[in-house]
Order: sequence, then C-alpha cells, then structure tokens
Amino acid sequence: MKSGIHPSYTERATITCGCGAVITTGSTRSEMNIDVCANCHPFYTGKKKRIDATGRVDRFEKLSKKSEGLRPTTRSKREKLAEKSKKKAEKTATPSSLKK
Ligand SMILES: [Zn+2]
Repeated sequence: MKSGIHPSYTERATITCGCGAVITTGSTRSEMNIDVCANCHPFYTGKKKRIDATGRVDRFEKLSKKSEGLRPTTRSKREKLAEKSKKKAEKTATPSSLKK
C-alpha cells in the first residue's frame, strides 16, 4: 500500500440516526449523522411516517393552505360545453317578436 495517499481508517465509527439509534461500524469517517435507519424506516416499521428533514412538505402545506381561498372555481368540460351550446341555441333561435 502506498503511504500518504490513503485516508485513516476508524475501526469504531459511529452512525447516529435522527431517531436516536447509534450504529457502530468501520469507516474512514469517525462520525456520521443520518435521517433514517432500519430501526425507524417506514418500510421496516410498517408505520406511516413522513421523512422530511428540510421542511419542504411543511412549506408546501403552508402554501397550499394559504392559496385555498384564492383558487378559482373550476367548471367541468361538460358544464362548459352545455353553457356554450345553450348560448348558441339562444343566438340562432328566432325571437318571438319576428314570428308571424
Ligand atoms: Zn432511525
């Protein structure tokens, strides 16, 4: 092994999870912090849990709540078509005053 080019290996490096679990392993880094591990990952626990370290989900929910009142009323395509054909029918229909 060439000397001076390899990082130093730590036999007992610790990985600390957000849930509090500590895993001991060998690594070139002595300490690592992770957001999710096998003890708390929804796949292993079977429980629903939102993993959101940066707060992006909270931010999105806040924004969507804020814009709830501003949302325009949406009409379905069928309603729009019905309205359009009704207007057309009114236009083409002869007024009763012209009828003889
Ligand atoms: Zn964990």
